[in-house]
Amino acid sequence: MNKFAKQPKLLKKHPNAFQVEWKDGHVSWYPYVYLRQMCPCAECAIIRHKGRDVHSLFAPQGDGDITLIEVSDDIQPLDIQLVGRYALQFSWNDGHDTGIYPFEALRETCPCPECAPLYEKPLIQTEEEN
Ligand SMILES: [Zn+2]
Ligand SMILES: [Zn+2]
Repeated sequence: MNKFAKQPKLLKKHPNAFQVEWKDGHVSWYPYVYLRQMCPCAECAIIRHKGRDVHSLFAPQGDGDITLIEVSDDIQPLDIQLVGRYALQFSWNDGHDTGIYPFEALRETCPCPECAPLYEKPLIQTEEEN
């Protein structure tokens, strides 16, 4: 992955998804349910790994079974903050705000049909595909 693939050019909040346009031209759409389930905080990583403490392992982001994170369909970010130049922090309307999402991890977990097969099979069809 070249460095432009990890640098966002545009960040945009949509009603049901967060859009990131990357400097290499790729556009990612992250449905909020998916983003919340992928929360990279230690607490969520442990839930996705059925109680196993994986925080010290390499790249817990996106690992485990994301369906183990219970998320309501109306999940929305109340606030999205830049953390330095490398990450985003989402404050969700379920009260959870400890997840810091590095851009590199976001790009690696892009759920689009082009990227998803690189790490696992597509989880979600983006709105663009419909
Ligand atoms: Zn979390
Ligand atoms: Zn993609």
